[in-house]
Amino acid sequence: MDSQIRPLDRRSFLRWAGLGVTATLGAKTLAAAETISGNAVQFNPLFDLKTEAKEANPPAPTAPDKRVGFAIVGLGRLSLHQILPALSECKHARVTALVSGNRDKGLKVAQQYGVNEKSVYNYENYDKLADNPDVQVIYIVLPNSMHAEYTIRGAKAGKHILCEKPMANTVADCQQMVDVCKAANLRLMIAYRQQYEPCNRAIVKMVKEGKLGTLHEFIAVNSQNQGEPNQWRLKRQLSGGGPLPDIGIYCLNAARFLSGSEPESVMGQIIQAPDDPRFKEVEASVQFMLRFPGGFTATCSTSYNTHRSQFLRIIGSDGWAEMNPAFAYEGMRLSYNKMSEGTDLISAVQLTPKNQFAQEMDHMAQCVQTGAQPHTPGEEGMQDMRIIEAIYNSAQNGRTIELRQPSPTRGPEPADS
Ligand code: NAD
Repeated sequence: MDSQIRPLDRRSFLRWAGLGVTATLGAKTLAAAETISGNAVQFNPLFDLKTEAKEANPPAPTAPDKRVGFAIVGLGRLSLHQILPALSECKHARVTALVSGNRDKGLKVAQQYGVNEKSVYNYENYDKLADNPDVQVIYIVLPNSMHAEYTIRGAKAGKHILCEKPMANTVADCQQMVDVCKAANLRLMIAYRQQYEPCNRAIVKMVKEGKLGTLHEFIAVNSQNQGEPNQWRLKRQLSGGGPLPDIGIYCLNAARFLSGSEPESVMGQIIQAPDDPRFKEVEASVQFMLRFPGGFTATCSTSYNTHRSQFLRIIGSDGWAEMNPAFAYEGMRLSYNKMSEGTDLISAVQLTPKNQFAQEMDHMAQCVQTGAQPHTPGEEGMQDMRIIEAIYNSAQNGRTIELRQPSPTRGPEPADS
């Protein structure tokens, strides 16, 4: 029996395909269901079903040889564990050069990622990146105290800069980095990966759409045990401080970008561990409270002296959103609580995870391609440094520090790459 698989007649096909009686069969009809605009192919939605996730547009990558070339400076843990592997998920960025003080390591990593050995530099001949047309962006992944010098030298070599957090050790250094890049008409972006991560972006959207009501409170912890006592993170000259500029900065930055508001005053308290050899130069823990216009407050805690603990909650008059864990490289979980028809509903929000480093590098690449201002420019990093300096000042002097409201610190929202 062949009657199990029967060709559909034209009327049945139209009904099945939902195309309506005006549609015609054949290639023309199928072509009408898609549009090509610039580099992007878009399909018209097949079905509009409330039970199904909205179909995203297909990826529209830049051709491999036309992608924006990145030089990765410093081949430490973050570069080798996260940044270089993430490049395989990028659609607009590629690695074209490496900078390392260790030539053997530089050559080995160059082989792993297909970088020409002529494009492996060291800290002395770094400025020769100026002569490498395959590099448009320099991504600085060095100890914090080196960010300013390598940004300024990189900009002098005519390259756009993506710089790891914290932007620098002082506000004065941040200002110089902004000024040099601006004068040379180069983009400067700070690598706040969480601002490109889907759960964080979903909270930003909830707040903007008023889903949480009037914001009242933000609570966050980002703490971990920091091992090896001789590492640069525990040397003040290289790190600029202990957990506050390294991991506490995630709580501080999240309080600002999730609320879309800037603090008007700050109080800080340092908790020291006098007998612990790790904390001879930097603090063990910091707690700080930010007060925003309208009475919204952020209470944050960060430590190098506890079991890993990473979460945040933002609470409004009509609901709250929570990430637990927050601030991690992967595995973020978002939940949302709102009273609905007398039922206290806590929903786990399911979002497709995206590699934050790939999102962030693609955003920078797209800014270079289009000339747009990055979402997290130098001004965003400088504002965090202003607040960090005020937190230390408050902790040392035991008083509340008033803050000036800054000019806008953030560029346009990132498009999905
Ligand atoms: P790391 O110690 O693993 O690597 C630092 C690199 O800098 C090494 O290759 C080291 O050889 C090189 N270096 C050059 N001069 C040095 C000096 N004088 N002392 C010490 N190292 C020197 O550090 P990392 O964890 O890769 O951190 C690098 C930067 O990235 C820091 O600014 C840090 O805050 C930032 N970071 C960001 C994230 C994030 O999630 N965005 C995570 C970790 C680190």
